[in-house]
Amino acid sequence: MNLVILGAPGSGKGTQAVRLAERFNLRHISSGNLLRAEVASGTLLGKQVAGVMKKGKLVPDEAVLKVVSEVLTDEETTRLGGWILDGYPRTADQAEALEDVLSRNREAVEAVILLQVAADVLVPRLTNRDRADDTPETVRKRLEVYDREIEPLLDFYEQRYDVHRVDGSKPIEEVTEDIAGLVDVYDLS
Ligand code: AMP
Repeated sequence: MNLVILGAPGSGKGTQAVRLAERFNLRHISSGNLLRAEVASGTLLGKQVAGVMKKGKLVPDEAVLKVVSEVLTDEETTRLGGWILDGYPRTADQAEALEDVLSRNREAVEAVILLQVAADVLVPRLTNRDRADDTPETVRKRLEVYDREIEPLLDFYEQRYDVHRVDGSKPIEEVTEDIAGLVDVYDLS
């Protein structure tokens, strides 16, 4: 089962992706985590993206596609036989690039989940996190980027797949159950 989970920064998509990955035995692929790992280990790519990440802007498509596609096609992902993408794609262009990588691999996105959370819930959630790229200024920028990119990204996916909207303001366990219920209803596993 191959899932894409979309949602604003602070919508809980990382938390849900981890929980769903465990439950359905999927590879959790978080572009943000992969990029932070590159920065932490001081790779060339990490050095190239660190400044952009600090500002809350999007890193260049090639950089993020590289780290994501490496994991999408590695042995562990193949062994598990499915994945949940978290933080990628973030733009319609990235979604298109992902389709290319997947079709070359004879794979496809099977469902798209959109976690919906009102803005007044997001900001306190974000500023309470403890990441170097979660300063108030970065948070503001990241929400701005999300608002700009989400509509064209949703348009792209809605033309191809069912986009399942889930209320992300409920307690963590309930959100997981709602998503898992959808997965069962659509018999995706
Ligand atoms: P996240 O942990 O998903 O919120 O990502 C943290 C930061 O990594 C973002 O603010 C971006 O700078 C960068 N990033 C993560 N995923 C992407 C992506 N798909 N495209 C561009 N930049 C990304």
